Amino acid sequence: MAALERVWALGRGLGTTFGYLFKPRTTVDYPEKERPVAERFRGLHILDRHDDGLEKCVGCELCQAACPAHCITVEAAENAPDAPTSPGERYAWRYEIDLLRCIFCGFCEEACPTGAIQLTPRHDLIGFRRSEFEVDKRWLTVPDPRRATAAGPAASGGAGERAPGGPIAG
Ligand code: SF4
Ligand code: SF4
Repeated sequence: MAALERVWALGRGLGTTFGYLFKPRTTVDYPEKERPVAERFRGLHILDRHDDGLEKCVGCELCQAACPAHCITVEAAENAPDAPTSPGERYAWRYEIDLLRCIFCGFCEEACPTGAIQLTPRHDLIGFRRSEFEVDKRWLTVPDPRRATAAGPAASGGAGERAPGGPIAG
């Protein structure tokens, strides 16, 4: 009797398994495929550039002041008149975000007068040490279009690449 009950239980279990063979899949082959995020999703940051390659950030520090988590550090410097980094008088020579403290509220993006700091739909972030999540300008700034070639995009720099000491983002 006990043997029959076990066979019956096994059959019911396999029936459940086979029943799912013909149902639509609810999983995706991540990371090759990703589910779309909501339109207003706030993910990892970038520092954007103008079309001519100049950095949009003018080092005004408003994002740093607006950040409720105190995870942004900006230090500005004067632009060189003959080789400016940004269109403003100053640029951010230092720009760092501690991503482990960030709550992705988007206040920095709202406070920025130039549209430099932006939160993207990117959300996957891998690191093994806390220090890897303290990202700087090399990690945040998008590639300079002036350095792009016909063979492909700019060879270095740009958000999402693995800067030394930085995390990997998709
Ligand atoms: S998203 Fe919010 S918490 Fe994160 S850096 Fe911007 S202002 Fe700070
Ligand atoms: S990202 Fe925007 S708000 Fe922050 S320092 Fe640069 S220009 Fe100012």
